[in-house]
Amino acid sequence: MRQTVMRRFSDHTTARVGGTAGEWVVAGTEFEALQTLSRHPLPSEEDRAASGDTLLVLGGGSNLLVADDGFAGTVLQLAFTGITAAPVNDDDGDVMVTVAAGHEWDDVVAWTVQRRYAGLEALSGIPGAAGATPVQNVGAYGAEVSQTLVDVRAWDRLLGEVVTLSNEELDFGYRDSMLKRTTLHGSPRYVVLSVRFRLTHRGEATPSSPVRYAELARSLSLDVNAAEDQRRAPLADVRTTVLALRAGKGMVLDPADHDTWSTGSFFTNPIVGEDVLATLPEGAPRFPALPDVDGSPRVKLSAAWLIDRAGCQKGFGADLVDGRASLSTKHTLAVTNRGDASTADLLTVAGAVRDRVREAFGIELHPEPVLIGCEL
Ligand SMILES: Cc1cc2nc3c(=O)[nH]c(=O)nc-3n(C[C@H](O)[C@H](O)[C@H](O)COP(=O)(O)OP(=O)(O)OC[C@H]3O[C@@H](n4cnc5c(N)ncnc54)[C@H](O)[C@@H]3O)c2cc1C
Repeated sequence: MRQTVMRRFSDHTTARVGGTAGEWVVAGTEFEALQTLSRHPLPSEEDRAASGDTLLVLGGGSNLLVADDGFAGTVLQLAFTGITAAPVNDDDGDVMVTVAAGHEWDDVVAWTVQRRYAGLEALSGIPGAAGATPVQNVGAYGAEVSQTLVDVRAWDRLLGEVVTLSNEELDFGYRDSMLKRTTLHGSPRYVVLSVRFRLTHRGEATPSSPVRYAELARSLSLDVNAAEDQRRAPLADVRTTVLALRAGKGMVLDPADHDTWSTGSFFTNPIVGEDVLATLPEGAPRFPALPDVDGSPRVKLSAAWLIDRAGCQKGFGADLVDGRASLSTKHTLAVTNRGDASTADLLTVAGAVRDRVREAFGIELHPEPVLIGCEL
């Protein structure tokens, strides 16, 4: 049954900030979600651009910052779960795993690793629900959901019907997808109902996908430059190692550790033209990126490195808000709630970081979390 209750975002987001909502619907089944969605067709472009949507879709609240005043419309919390696997109809033993939008993501990864299905193991420890993972093409340690995602079923609020969107149609990029690009100020056109992944299965001895990330490879005693087949490890080892690396950076939720009261990385890694490199100190980390639309070469920079070099070290910003918020003491990319922070406090710290990086390097950092009723 649909439950309508009075709740606060501070109790339903990982940064633990944000006020109340006009209405809060917890959908325990897909049918209940569709009932609410059919009451909330896509508003006009003008209303969406002016943050005038009456609907806010909520998964695990781990990539969301809502104003201290809250959100006047309806929150639809997707809480329906379920995960199934079926063999793919060919000889190689692959499996198709279908996950309901509300299923906790890390439980999905644990479930697949336990059954020796390879492809998601490097994405261990990321908070939130499965339905949100395609929105920003969730990624970590050299893996992204776009590498294994086949398609999603989604409610199209414009057409008022359920549609299937293929990996190609989702047009994934770095922390980006068509789902995100058709969302305006938190107002989505598509609401993901379930996601399908094609994973590799070669019996009990199924190894991991090739490890692509140097730090992870080192921790597993692999050479990241070796041939693909020499960059594989037991699935469970990859999961355990990723979880340990993430925990060391405050990137695994722990209610007792304020370094994890955050939205994860607050800023995306900036993607800039290659010419910008000449303006940066030697040794500034850079990674390959796709060329610009006009074909000019681009590189991805490390936001954490820029923040640190701009003078915002771990723990930065506490003095700006009487200690209620600061950068994590383990990682410069997370803006954290030290216990009784408000949304405004987190934005004050984030704004100071963004300004310092702009002053030091002329580079504009962009927030990764979705901001509702507030801005940086
Ligand atoms: C400690 C920590 C570590 C993190 N590490 C990583 C990381 O390594 N890599 C990474 O990519 N991210 C990371 N994140 C960010 C976050 O976990 C992911 O973006 C996650 O996928 C968000 O899921 P959620 O269910 O919490 O989404 P929410 O925060 O509930 O929602 C985020 C946005 O997606 C929309 N949305 C949610 N569900 C749906 C749906 N079913 N259909 C359409 N729109 C939807 C919401 O409306 C909102 O706009 C981290 C966050 C934290 C707190």
